[in-house]
This record gives sequence, structure tokens and C-alpha cells, in this order.
Amino acid sequence: MTQKAMDIPTQLAARIDKLALEAPSLPVLSEAEQATLKAEIKTLLKAQNAQIVAHFYVDEALQSLAEETGGLVADSLEMANFGAQSDADTIVVCGVRFMGETAKMLSPEKTILMPDIEATCSLDLGCPADEFAEFCAEHPDYTVVVYANTSAEVKAIADWVVTSGNALQIVTHLKEQGQKIIWAPDRHLGDWIEKETGIEMLRWQGHCIVHDEFKTFELKQLKEQHPNAKVLVHPESPAEVVELADVVGSTKVLINAVKTMDDQEFIVATDLGIFYKMQQLAPNKTLLVAPTTDREAACKSCAHCPWMAMNGLQNLLSCLKDKTGEILVDEAIRLKALGSLDKMLEFSRNAGLVKK
Ligand code: SF4
Repeated sequence: MTQKAMDIPTQLAARIDKLALEAPSLPVLSEAEQATLKAEIKTLLKAQNAQIVAHFYVDEALQSLAEETGGLVADSLEMANFGAQSDADTIVVCGVRFMGETAKMLSPEKTILMPDIEATCSLDLGCPADEFAEFCAEHPDYTVVVYANTSAEVKAIADWVVTSGNALQIVTHLKEQGQKIIWAPDRHLGDWIEKETGIEMLRWQGHCIVHDEFKTFELKQLKEQHPNAKVLVHPESPAEVVELADVVGSTKVLINAVKTMDDQEFIVATDLGIFYKMQQLAPNKTLLVAPTTDREAACKSCAHCPWMAMNGLQNLLSCLKDKTGEILVDEAIRLKALGSLDKMLEFSRNAGLVKK
């Protein structure tokens, strides 16, 4: 019988939880301190022909700075596309490590910096390349599709890389070609894709420590208290939470829902860093964080990624000043991973999901 899913060993899962709890917190800065740091960073960005590419989940001070300086605030798909098309000499990626690695693999001639290269992701940690390679080798007739939230080494094994912004379209495309698929690493996104496309995949059982925490019972209670609120859910959330959603999709889809829907109130099940952009585009709408703390008060992330929170103005300034946090990728790995990354961007550009 074919093995349908590959569970993460308990020890590895425990290590990931421990790392998340130990992620360092950054100091809270006064407005004056922020203004001074921002001014210094702006000067260095100009002098170094550098741009900031920030994810929707990082601190709003970084998102606003990226916007003020000709950079980009986006999801991981647009971040990858923008980095590849930018003519800056240096790209500062404010996000987590796999985003920096993706930027480097697409633009090896550019210097790619990150405020803290230790900022990682539970999906990346939960899919070690050696074990994943063994799993794939057991199923040589399968097409290997991996989520962008993986290491360069895992991408080098893959036939396709996808993000939550294009996964449905790419898997549908592969299904139409009659291909059998190995999916890694997010189990909930895999569930959702199977449900939406009707395809059955061999799945790695990783999870995002932020989205995995959203709780159904408490979400139902919140819905009762706010009967007019629409529920927006990222598909890295558990299937029972996704079932309660009015809109399911990538960060970009959820932001667009707040902006374009006539409703005034939204319950949002994704990292609360996204509220900055939602509030900017729809300042009069009310946003509520979907509950993460259950009746036993267990919450590891409380709707904010501890690794995204490692990006701040102080370490952003240091990385530009001292060239700390440079991302490097082994050239042989880069060349192996590049095919699947290029395919993803070409598919997304042709499908109108990102700029050509
Ligand atoms: S929010 Fe989840 S998927 Fe995103 S970087 Fe953090 S752990 Fe990874």
C-alpha cells in the first residue's frame, strides 16, 4: 500500500517548538528612536543602491520604511518576483531565511542581506533535506512540489516550488497533465489543495506554528459575538478553521478581501503583522484577531511569528552598516533549485499572478 503521509518525528517537532519559544524579542523603540534609525537607514540605502523587500508579517516600522524608500511589501511570491526584477545592487530581505535564500538563488549577482539570518520558519525546520530526499526516492514516479517555505537544499530536490499565492493553479495544472504529486511540507495547505482540486497527494506533515494555533471553538464564539464579521483564513490553518472561513487564500487574497468587500468587520486568521497593510488600505474597517488561546490557555505563537518578529530597525541598520547577515547559497545547490524557482515565476507571470 502506498504511504499517504510522512509524519514529523516527535523529537523534531519538540525541537521546533523549543526554538520558537527561544526566539529573541527585540526592544520596543520610542518614536524618536525609530525616526533616527530610519533616517540613517535611508542614507545607507541610497549610498548602496539597496532596496528593502519586506513581508506582510514583519513589524510595521519596516513595512512603512520599505514603502517610503521604493522597496516592496508583499507576500513571498511577489517578494521573489520583485527581487529578481529589481536593478538594485543590494536587496535587504525583511522576513525569514528561506525568503533571503530565494532572493539569492534568483539574483546571485546581488548582495542579499537580512537583519537576522537566524530568523527561520517551522515549515523549513520540519522538512530536513536528507529525510525528504529519502522520502522522494521511495516514490520516483512522483512530481515533487514544495512550498517556498523550505531550505535551498529541499528546493534543489523539487520539480516545482509554489507559494500560497499560486499553489492551487500549479497543482491544478499538474493534475491536468495526469501527474502524481508529492507535496511538502505544510499539512494544512496540502489538505486544502486536495479539497479544492480533488487530487490526492503524498504529503509531508509539517506545520506552521502560527497558523496551527487557531482554534475552532473559540472562533465560533467570536463569530457569535460579531455576527456580521466575515472570517478570513490563511490555508496554513487547520481544516476545521478553514471550514469556518468566508474567504480562504494567501496574504494577498486576504488583504484584497478587506479592501474590496462591503463588509465592515473581519476576523482574521493569519499573522497579525498583516493588519498594518489591511488598515492602511481600509482604515475604517474593524479587524479582529482570530483566537489562538484555547480553553487550556495553550498558545505558542499567539498569531505572531516569533521569527518574523526578529526583524527590526536596529538590526536592519547593522546589516547595512556592517554587512552582517549576508545570505550565501552553495552554487551547486542554487543551480539545482533554480529550475523549479524559474518555472514557478514563469508560470505565475503567464497566469497574471505577478508582474511580467
Ligand atoms: S508565520 Fe509560519 S509559515 Fe510564516 S515564517 Fe512564521 S512559522 Fe513560517
